[in-house]
Amino acid sequence: MSLLGTETAFEVLAKAKRLEAQGKDIVHLHIGAPDFLTPPNIVAAGEKALRDGWHKYTPAKGIPELREAVCEDILTHRGAEVSPDDVLIVPGGKPTMFYAIMMFGEPGKEILYPNPGFPIYESLIRWSGATPVPIELLEENGFSFSAQRVLEQITPNTSLLIINTPANPTGGVLPREELDLLVAGLEAHPHVTILCDEIYSRLLYDGEEHVSILQYPEVRDRAIMLDGWSKTYAMTGWRLGYGVWPSTIIDHAERLQINSSSCANAVTQVAAIEALRGPQDAVDAMCAAFDERRLIIHEELNAIPGFSCVMPKGAFYAFPNTSGTGVASRELEERFLNDAGVACLAGTSFGALGEGYMRFSYANSIENIREGLRRVAANLESA
Ligand code: PLP
Repeated sequence: MSLLGTETAFEVLAKAKRLEAQGKDIVHLHIGAPDFLTPPNIVAAGEKALRDGWHKYTPAKGIPELREAVCEDILTHRGAEVSPDDVLIVPGGKPTMFYAIMMFGEPGKEILYPNPGFPIYESLIRWSGATPVPIELLEENGFSFSAQRVLEQITPNTSLLIINTPANPTGGVLPREELDLLVAGLEAHPHVTILCDEIYSRLLYDGEEHVSILQYPEVRDRAIMLDGWSKTYAMTGWRLGYGVWPSTIIDHAERLQINSSSCANAVTQVAAIEALRGPQDAVDAMCAAFDERRLIIHEELNAIPGFSCVMPKGAFYAFPNTSGTGVASRELEERFLNDAGVACLAGTSFGALGEGYMRFSYANSIENIREGLRRVAANLESA
């Protein structure tokens, strides 16, 4: 168990709640959850599902109608045709990565993963006994990677390659050309399966397009695509996500589900059909609000002495370079929380390559963003 890591966002949340219980005022710029309510049509569908008696287990793979709705959504937003047979509905975005890493990770195997990146990848890779091999995401490349460099890191022991676009914590977006090159290069490495975490696919700005691994028929037989409802529909607490799996291995994933959660929550699944098939204007409105905040947080972060921040292109995180302050990221995290009352995350919460950076979530009101950054600037000035 000592190999298993964690997601520091939940630890900082607990610390912030303790400080609030002591009467301290905390601005929350750490958690990756939209600050909006779930759109009312989705909530109404959930309420109706409860009244209609959706109180039992569903098939382990999910309600067939929901799996069909997922396929329609993939066709609309990714232009890819997928069979409902290859869709596994799971309780959140995380189970798909859990199942994939459990399936492909074991001692002697190597798994490539983004660093800085979502911390659960590295945590699960270590726990599985496999060797984590970081794909460096560098600020000077817009926090993307060079396909050439990734291909060079593949060895006969590489079992899984994890990609995340748009990315947490950097807000970076993988350009189509780079994914084209990666997929072309993978032809020489047929033993490598790809897990593409696309949970922020609808949160893109400045006309950026989402490039999905499902758009590459040449790797469909070894690509797993992760998405879910948490971020797009402000449904983090409902716990619902899905994976599109190669038909050769989806039965194993289903078995992992039967051994862990049986199935995702039935009421949530019914509400999720409404999320996908109902009006999408709430998604557009949330995205427009995040965009406005993105421009503000970018400008305000760059005005803080010692900080410099590239423009995030997707998700709802800004990842400023804070090395100009001369203070280590973890120390800044503690100082900002304890002394300034601002919860944000050290870049090192996302891997060793996050040193010299901090993650600020802009899933909060403009007023709170401005207040949080005013406190951060004042804290640095007074030091
Ligand atoms: N993947 C990425 C990149 C994330 O940032 C998150 C949540 O922050 C998840 C997956 C997990 O999503 P969920 O909360 O639906 O499990």
